[in-house]
Amino acid sequence: MVNEVMGLGDVAPSLYGECEAQQGMHFCGQGFVWPELVDPATHEPLAIETGVVGEVVYTTLQREAMPLVRFRSGDLLEILGTSCACGRTSFRARCLARTDDMFIVRGVNVYPTAIVAVVGEFHPHVTGRARVVLHDLREGGPTDGGTECFDLSGENHVGAYIPPGVAHGFAALTDMVITYQVDGYYNPADELGVAWDDPVIGADWGVADPILSERDRQNPLRADIPSNRRPYWPMRT
Ligand SMILES: [Zn+2]
Repeated sequence: MVNEVMGLGDVAPSLYGECEAQQGMHFCGQGFVWPELVDPATHEPLAIETGVVGEVVYTTLQREAMPLVRFRSGDLLEILGTSCACGRTSFRARCLARTDDMFIVRGVNVYPTAIVAVVGEFHPHVTGRARVVLHDLREGGPTDGGTECFDLSGENHVGAYIPPGVAHGFAALTDMVITYQVDGYYNPADELGVAWDDPVIGADWGVADPILSERDRQNPLRADIPSNRRPYWPMRT
């Protein structure tokens, strides 16, 4: 069973594959691609020997229309060996990191500069009106205990950044569409609620008798949240 494969779109879609010994991926582009290692900072050549770490550069040996000569892959390899229990003698390697800031999301190469462009073009389509309440639960935080209430609406075009550890809720004051962006996957163990009508928080929801979810009805008063459950400052819970 092959556990790990690696290639490079510009050179060859598949250049490495791990064998049943699972001791790193064997290079398997012999005859088609000539690999070399270089120091990513100085570009000095490095020997392909066990324990060496370097950026792999490729030269295509058979391409005629668009040959590549010493093409920098951006992949930082560690050479794990040049022999193997499976009998293959091509070098074995693991890809440790990128030498640039590219990263891979579900098989797609992503550059942070591209994300900046996408975020910069983001225009949320918001309709209606929501009252948003933020309350700082972070123990020792700069605004610990503080509460902010404001409206998001299709008219005021306000957005809000909510730091981790700040409790937040909203009440729909009209039918509305709201857009959320999150910086991590949902983790139920990380969730903490506080009573919407806790007088210590003093939230102004803009409605006297809100329709609450069952979960929101069960939330404790701020004073009843054990200290070790509170988010603390400056670390994320
Ligand atoms: Zn092997």
